[in-house]
Amino acid sequence: MPDTPRDSAFPARHSAQNYHPLPVVIASADGAWMTDVEGRRHLDMLAGYSALNFGHGHPRLVKAAKDQLERVTLTSRAFHHDRFGEFCAQLADLCGMEMVLPMNTGAEAVETAVKTARKWGYRVKGVAPDRARIVVAAGNFHGRTTTIVGFSTDETARADHGPYAPGFDIVPYGDLAALEAAMTDDTVAVLLEPIQGEAGVVVPPPGYLTGVRELTRSRDVLFVCDEIQSGLGRTGKTFACDHEDVVPDMYVLGKALGGGVVPVSAVVSSAAVLGVHRPGEHGSTFGGNPLACAVALEVVALLRTGEYQQRAAELGAHLHRELASLAAGGAVQQVRGRGLWAGVDIAPSHGTGREISEQLLERRVLVKDTHASTIRLAPPLVISKDDLDWGLEQMRSVLAG
Ligand SMILES: *Cc1c(COP(=O)(O)O)cnc(C)c1O
Repeated sequence: MPDTPRDSAFPARHSAQNYHPLPVVIASADGAWMTDVEGRRHLDMLAGYSALNFGHGHPRLVKAAKDQLERVTLTSRAFHHDRFGEFCAQLADLCGMEMVLPMNTGAEAVETAVKTARKWGYRVKGVAPDRARIVVAAGNFHGRTTTIVGFSTDETARADHGPYAPGFDIVPYGDLAALEAAMTDDTVAVLLEPIQGEAGVVVPPPGYLTGVRELTRSRDVLFVCDEIQSGLGRTGKTFACDHEDVVPDMYVLGKALGGGVVPVSAVVSSAAVLGVHRPGEHGSTFGGNPLACAVALEVVALLRTGEYQQRAAELGAHLHRELASLAAGGAVQQVRGRGLWAGVDIAPSHGTGREISEQLLERRVLVKDTHASTIRLAPPLVISKDDLDWGLEQMRSVLAG
């Protein structure tokens, strides 16, 4: 029996309760808009946490996927396929790097970065067996695997998933002195988000990324940048690191790399670093599959135009001007962010982040709260200025109440 719209609003009876979605059921979407099962249109101001940087159903991405669907979708890496080499070459070039190791989800790419950094540490840097350490930042979000949650400082994500993998040192985000103090001869990598998304779109102090680059270089340590959420246009540049003209040793990419169509992630680095892997030492059945490569190639082509980065920069400047004026009204305590990406701290007197998200839903604007009192805004980069203004107007109304 088909679900009625009411039932389909709560399809959770047979689903683990590991999420607490807003009470809206989406049936279709186009650009920056999503339509629910009752035909109501909602403005998507979250964009799948940046997985939908190019919006829903971007014609070029849909075409790339459809064309590839009809040719070949999966070979496994047991055989070559004709999109793989081109994908690796194009993505490496976009990143100014030499080699790509494709995976599927973000967490897998972070795991790949951890394994690569450790292997590089043993084979190239000369760290003694099983001694490698990786420095990470408090407030990090790098995914949900057992190793990754072990170095999370978010107790909700971490608790009851132990025993936790050793080999990680946690330092305060944005604190260069603490980072320097945490580095030892066994340190193989510093793993950071150039802007911490999940933490509430936390931008580090100016000069931090440059400082991390200099420190890691001088100590023969890899600088691994998790640009899964911040990269690929979101902040107004291809990478958030570009704002400080910093080039890390390794980019970790995901989310928007799959164009919101298929999960595609990758580690992108030099031949000296990614060259440490030999056949059989790491892999993924679906990693770098033809469908993923076809879509991601089109994503790279879209980014090459610079159009999306420019939109994010221009609309982002507008967004932050508007949010600053909202903040002057008292309902908002702080606004952080860069480009078309903002963390908005709601004053407790005006409700929790969840309550504000629910009120915005009533006004057909979809956002997501994080850490109780913060609203995260990350609309698709294809959003029109009028739609963005309409969304901000709804925020203004909700926060005035
Ligand atoms: C989303 C995200 C991840 C994890 O990606 P998944 O595809 O959910 O595994 C890792 N790092 C950052 C910065 C993210 O935003």
